[in-house]
Amino acid sequence: METKCPECDCVLKPKKELELGEIFSCLDCGSRLEVMSLQPLKIQPAPVVEEDWGE
Ligand SMILES: [Zn+2]
Repeated sequence: METKCPECDCVLKPKKELELGEIFSCLDCGSRLEVMSLQPLKIQPAPVVEEDWGE
């Protein structure tokens, strides 16, 4: 199972099995990525959660 990072286009080859909705970091660019679909494997950048979320 492999896919490409949507941010830097490097090939991602997760060692373990990914779960739907799992968030992991691209080893190349450090972007936080979220698993959107498993079959086929689809990855998209995970929304950034700011520390001071709110008004
Ligand atoms: Zn990347």
